[in-house]
Amino acid sequence: MMNERVHELLNDQINKEFYSAYLYLDFSNYFKERGLDGFANWYMIQAQEERDHAMLFYQFLQNESKKVTLGAIDKPDKELTSDMDVLLAGLEHEKYVTSLIHNIYAEAYEAKDFRTMQFLDWFVKEQGEEETNANDMITKMELFGSDPKSLYMLNQELAARVYSAPSLVL
Ligand code: MG
Repeated sequence: MMNERVHELLNDQINKEFYSAYLYLDFSNYFKERGLDGFANWYMIQAQEERDHAMLFYQFLQNESKKVTLGAIDKPDKELTSDMDVLLAGLEHEKYVTSLIHNIYAEAYEAKDFRTMQFLDWFVKEQGEEETNANDMITKMELFGSDPKSLYMLNQELAARVYSAPSLVL
């Protein structure tokens, strides 16, 4: 049985994940304008993944016969003034999302809502990977960002990222 608090948090998370997609679309747009198509591609795929996350929360609630209520998605609010700004904002955002997922997990645990906990297990692991990816981007930018040739190579590397559907199937 899902209690109202857990229901509310899961419903809110649909919005948070769509906001994440919107934020990463903004990042992609920033890099597109900079002429760094590889970075733009990387964040475009990131945005697609976030949309998938939103749909997983949506589908989970529907599978549990719980009402879904969609709210307005905020405008991306990070000020993007340099490449490193973008990457740091990405890491900060992922840490925030991790805290949201952990909070829902804690509420589900409290409520002995084992089905929600099992659903969230995938997201707990996913957030670990998201933070690692965001950290790796920062490290690479620190190492290579100031040298145009290296930045070009890094951009090429990021251009190779391809979309794949989430491994979690509901
Ligand atoms: Mg996400």
